[in-house]
Amino acid sequence: MENINLADKIEERLPPRALIAISRAQGLLEKRGGKLFLAGGAVRDLLLDKPVWDVDLVLEGDAMSLATDLADGEDVKITLHKPFLTANLRWHDLNLDLTTARREKYARPGALPTVAPGSLEDDLSRRDFSINAMAVSLNGEDNGRLIDHYGGIDDLHSKIVRILHEKSFKDDATRMWRAVRYEQRLDFKLEARTETSLKRDLGMLGTITGERIWYELERVFGEELPEKVLMRAGQLGLLEYLAPGLRADARMEGWFEAARRMSQPGNPGAQLYTALLTFNLDNRAMDNIVQRLKLNRATTQTLHGTQELKSRREALSVEPLKPSSIYRVLDGFSEVAVRANLIAGDSEKTCRNLRLYLDKLRYVKTSLNGDELIAFGVKQGPSIKTVLGLLLDARLDSEVSSREDEIRLLRQISLSS
Ligand code: ATP
Repeated sequence: MENINLADKIEERLPPRALIAISRAQGLLEKRGGKLFLAGGAVRDLLLDKPVWDVDLVLEGDAMSLATDLADGEDVKITLHKPFLTANLRWHDLNLDLTTARREKYARPGALPTVAPGSLEDDLSRRDFSINAMAVSLNGEDNGRLIDHYGGIDDLHSKIVRILHEKSFKDDATRMWRAVRYEQRLDFKLEARTETSLKRDLGMLGTITGERIWYELERVFGEELPEKVLMRAGQLGLLEYLAPGLRADARMEGWFEAARRMSQPGNPGAQLYTALLTFNLDNRAMDNIVQRLKLNRATTQTLHGTQELKSRREALSVEPLKPSSIYRVLDGFSEVAVRANLIAGDSEKTCRNLRLYLDKLRYVKTSLNGDELIAFGVKQGPSIKTVLGLLLDARLDSEVSSREDEIRLLRQISLSS
């Protein structure tokens, strides 16, 4: 293997806060012993000249106590995950993981591994792909030396995503989603045997908990172009294991693009993307996916809301429709459910009404509140809600436009009741 030294790249490209932390760690280790390495995605991205945001450090030694000492006197949030031998340090602009080099055993396929302290070599051998299994020494004379036992640098040059061993996807089928995510993000290709293994072991996705699959999916939705990952996942058969009948096609691609345009300068987020991905599912398939992924209440409600609105949006395609009628159809649906129906809707009239609600109607408020209605003599109890509803309708339909108008209308309502 050619000798590659990344010391200069590290100095130039790692966030300054990370360089300070590394230098302090090196100082502490001089006294107590232990070898420190930069590992995983940061090494990959340094070699690809891509920005490095998160920094993973691996220590042959006790990472928990080193992390605790590093945090001492610093404005940093430290979290120790003792069973996994991992510490997370979060300065406001930097996320740094410091992990004891680990050996891993899988009690059964798909289970989270049990870990024990090991060497750097052990640690690299349990990683997902060759391009993620490289490290850089941060020790003394060795500082900056690239450690690449699995041909990661060659695979980076050949633009290949390759598992380290034949049983990799059996051990942990979440790696299938990771493989596709890196392949599409980096414009790489799955190595031929890796693709064969993936297809052969698709059934192992059944061994993974819903939470772990959802975690990987959320990371897919965090990508710049998640639709690329999902389309490839569909081609390889991964989507079918999420929900039978789930498709990622050119139409969904267009919806995702529209969601990004609509969310600028932000990101559409996992909920909107999921609502669009599952938009064409029927209720049963939707229930299955919610259960399979163990989705939280908010996301579940959004997905069900999207479906419910899809079945009711006919009511928005008739014209003319008063703004208050539009409001009554849409009030109570989450913003994401309305957005999803706007993006995936095919009736121009419906879309115009959905847009009107999102841009304007949902912000309309009455000037009078419940306490004031009581002061004006409205009886406490359900009539307050009814009268507030009438006032809001009048506001929405531009029949009143000021507090005085509302008071006048209130008097008319009281006289006529
Ligand atoms: P990203 O750029 O997507 O954040 P990353 O490489 O930093 O990529 P993480 O998910 O943060 O990815 O994981 C850090 C490292 O841990 C990876 O580079 C990889 O070496 C290893 N890793 C993560 N998940 C797995 C897994 N399921 N199996 C094996 N190794 C994994």
